[in-house]
Amino acid sequence: MTLPLSPEKKLRILAVAVPVPLRQTFDFIAPKNASNLRPRTRVKILFGKRTLIGIIVEVKDGSDYPIEKLKPAIEIIDNEPLFDDALWQSLLWLSRYYLAAIGEVLESALPVVLRQAKSITPTLERAWQLTNHGRHSSIDELNRAPLQRAIIHQFANKDVLSSHDFKEHSQRWRSPIKSLIEKGWLEELTREPTLAGRDRTTPPDITLTEEQDHAINIINKAIDACKFSCNFLHGVTGSGKTEVYFAAMRNVLARGESVLFLVPEIGLTPQLIQRIERYFKHPVAVLHSGLNDTERHIAWWHARQGNAKIVLGTRSAVFSQMPNLGLLIVDEEHDGSFKQQDSVRYQARDVAVYRAKQVGAPIILGSATPSMETYHNALEGRYQHIRLTKRASEVELPKVELLDLNKQPVIDGLCPAMTEAVKHTLSKGKQVMLFLNRRGYAPVHYCSECKQTAKCHRCDSNLTVHQRANKLRCHHCGYEGRLTFNCRGCGAKESMLEVGDGTQRVEAAVTARFPNARLLRIDRDSTQRKGELARVLEVARKGEADILLGTQLITKGHDFPNVGMVGILEADQGLYSTDFRASETLFQQSLQVAGRAGRRDDVGRVYIQTRFPDHSFFGFIKQHDYEGFAEQLLNERKSVGFPPHGYFALLRAESTHQAKALQFLRRAKSDCQRSPHVVIMDAVPAPMERRAGRYRAQLLFMSQQRSALNRTLSTWLHYIAVNQEAKKLAATVRWTLDIDPLDHY
Ligand code: ADP
Ligand code: ZN
Repeated sequence: MTLPLSPEKKLRILAVAVPVPLRQTFDFIAPKNASNLRPRTRVKILFGKRTLIGIIVEVKDGSDYPIEKLKPAIEIIDNEPLFDDALWQSLLWLSRYYLAAIGEVLESALPVVLRQAKSITPTLERAWQLTNHGRHSSIDELNRAPLQRAIIHQFANKDVLSSHDFKEHSQRWRSPIKSLIEKGWLEELTREPTLAGRDRTTPPDITLTEEQDHAINIINKAIDACKFSCNFLHGVTGSGKTEVYFAAMRNVLARGESVLFLVPEIGLTPQLIQRIERYFKHPVAVLHSGLNDTERHIAWWHARQGNAKIVLGTRSAVFSQMPNLGLLIVDEEHDGSFKQQDSVRYQARDVAVYRAKQVGAPIILGSATPSMETYHNALEGRYQHIRLTKRASEVELPKVELLDLNKQPVIDGLCPAMTEAVKHTLSKGKQVMLFLNRRGYAPVHYCSECKQTAKCHRCDSNLTVHQRANKLRCHHCGYEGRLTFNCRGCGAKESMLEVGDGTQRVEAAVTARFPNARLLRIDRDSTQRKGELARVLEVARKGEADILLGTQLITKGHDFPNVGMVGILEADQGLYSTDFRASETLFQQSLQVAGRAGRRDDVGRVYIQTRFPDHSFFGFIKQHDYEGFAEQLLNERKSVGFPPHGYFALLRAESTHQAKALQFLRRAKSDCQRSPHVVIMDAVPAPMERRAGRYRAQLLFMSQQRSALNRTLSTWLHYIAVNQEAKKLAATVRWTLDIDPLDHY
């Protein structure tokens, strides 16, 4: 009950979302003399012993707590709300739907800079950008001033650099910057940043295909309806989905409205940015994880001010606030990177759909290999299903051939038929793409004497051999040890063998077999440096490499014009996995990577190495039959009530004590109120129980009704927040709740 205060006190109470993992707001007394008390503004508070920045959720006249126990807030920071109403409603929904701490939700929707008491408008005290003079001068003029040259060089990839960026590189950046300002190359930003569009565009001269025209007509109708609709653009690889997005964007931009465009990975953005810049004069803000805090703040601000008409970004860009948002696009909607895997575990695609509803605008979800969730929604008629069944270039989809590993050996990753195919493709001057979703040199280091493998001492996993770095690494916890060939277990000398193939081993073998071919390895190890992935993808696209060998990084949406063949070196792992989504992911990856072949002229070829050539999975792959595969998979899932025919939530717990995580979950299960609509499985150890020294366990909740699932879990969350004993037990483990979990580890 809220106790009314006597009028003479006139205390105002602020319900504040605090950035801590607690699922509630906290009441504070508004600072004396504070005018302009409004929800959605930041406030400085003392929380325990820490000074934190929270966000006011509500301004009220009383509190459920005794007033004398409430502390005064220290200071109100903003004069205006940070979020507009539609975005605010979406964030509140997000915290309810994902049962996430409101403070953490709001925090993740803000640029890091604003999680401190900085002003909403970027101040840019010490940030610089190239002047026009600087932009048009040759860097060679600075040959005699290497520090200045190095500084200008850094502007090649970034528009704005702050003192923070330079500190990372050198202690001596102040004086060369001063000289560059004096020479007129750089200017210090003291005013508000500006965002210019382009003077000129050079859209490619393309005649749209009939299917593209048709798709555009449907989407334009949705746009003209000026209300929410979900449009699922289901187009095979190379069908020209981007042209359809662009046509829709053109329509929306012409109305003076803006577009939010989400893509899965930073690696995909450079090519897309180029394409957007060729088409549109409108200012674009790009938001991805490669930005520094200043850049991110500026891009966020440009979106919020309405300076940016197009916002292009990865997962967290779904929180961009944009006045006049008229269209949302989620490209490659099936991609797992839209799911945030820690802290607030939201699915950006689903949040985007909710946002579209809130602002009353259409959204387009595009994919050649949609998630079962989206496909199911389309079949059920909830989403408008728009198909592109043919490639824009009129080239047929590639021919798929299985290479039976029961009949031929694999030597360093490739069987003889695969090697032959590579040779043949290279001889025709085409690029080869080899897909192996395992980085490192060899996944197993095995002792021929004691028959043991080298294991991570913190995880239930083998260590991966990284030969060039001379290291054994754990891909799960990051542990790194020296590579020795004497067995640490039994002490035998020179007994350790490298077993299995990783991208580095295949790289060495293929290089030895094709010494004249330029091989480009693309995996997380080879692209660690900032900007490196974008660079190698550009090298690949320009045809400056003959063989592209990589992990799932190469499967995603790239438009490489000259790839003649794709080799899938290992497909079998996903066929018999315990993870119910493994075959869906494998199918998507296989069709996606296959889709890189033969995009321009000749029909491409795809070769898949497998020990199970008769598996029904490959029948669908050979026919590029997404529908058939999806139908079978959806039926399987329906029979067991798995998503999208049911809803999951996963409660995970981990502890350094083996028993504790399981104990907590068993207790959680018994504390949950029984509901006829919710099935709670037994608490079980995670598939990889020990990771980074912690024992992990999980508890799966299943239901046919989202609302019942949500109710059960929120009741339980409330219970452990108020019941002292349950609270104590919860404090002994690390636990997280994952709604619509994507993986079950
Ligand atoms: P996807 O559907 O795989 O995303 P893209 O949009 O990347 O396909 O298009 C694949 C290629 O086809 C691009 O290089 C694009 O420029 C080209 N393309 C798209 N539409 C047409 C068209 N109507 N005529 C000719 N080429 C086209
Ligand atoms: Zn480990």
